[in-house]
Amino acid sequence: MNKNSLLILAGLLLCIVFESMAQSKNKVIAHRGAWKNTGATENSIGALEHAIKLKCYGSEFDVHMSADSVLFVNHDHTIKGTDIEKTSAKELSEIKLSNGENLPTLEAYLKAGANQKKTRLILEIKTSRLGKERSMALATKCVALVKELKVGKITDYIAFDYDVCLKVKQLTPKAHVQYLNGDKTPAEIKAAGLDGIDYHLGVFKKHESYIREAKENGLVTNVWTVNSKADMQYFLDNKVDYITTNEPEALLEMTK
Ligand code: MG
Repeated sequence: MNKNSLLILAGLLLCIVFESMAQSKNKVIAHRGAWKNTGATENSIGALEHAIKLKCYGSEFDVHMSADSVLFVNHDHTIKGTDIEKTSAKELSEIKLSNGENLPTLEAYLKAGANQKKTRLILEIKTSRLGKERSMALATKCVALVKELKVGKITDYIAFDYDVCLKVKQLTPKAHVQYLNGDKTPAEIKAAGLDGIDYHLGVFKKHESYIREAKENGLVTNVWTVNSKADMQYFLDNKVDYITTNEPEALLEMTK
């Protein structure tokens, strides 16, 4: 083999390596990870790992703060009757999920997603039931931990609390922040300096111009939680950027 052929071969191999490491290009965000068809518990590290294995564009998860300010991943404010915000990290760490994992800390969760670039970590900052101050403290701690673990480049933030979205954007201007609550127009989101809208499917169906208006404003659009094939097709036809779903396998199949 001559020198030129060797260089071409090396170039091709590098392309293959980079491609295998690159961000997935599909529209699929696994809602609370890929749990429904995999046997993993929602929001478990196992569910995140399945979403990564499926090569979803993103895997979404929800974050709360313990009484002693440690961050945990869970959807509800309570787990097995225990109120996360009113319980110590030590007690929370002992709680078992139904798939046998311990209730994951955000630190463990981010570390599990850290060594790959295909699947973005879509971090939802939950709204505290104990007041605005704690929501803001949770937001600040999430941003600090993402920075400490050096996962900023693969992490996006979402929140229902508008002030939390603004706070995250202020703390980490390069991060991608999307608002969840559905009560702001794309123009308002753009004016606030946020990056996109991540709204319930009913909001997008009621305001059919939102996807177009968001694009005109340079905003990203994401819709939740889209589980039927008819709704998936509706949003694919309407060219939404990302679809958050409990059925990532079905949506991946439809968009192959
Ligand atoms: Mg969520």
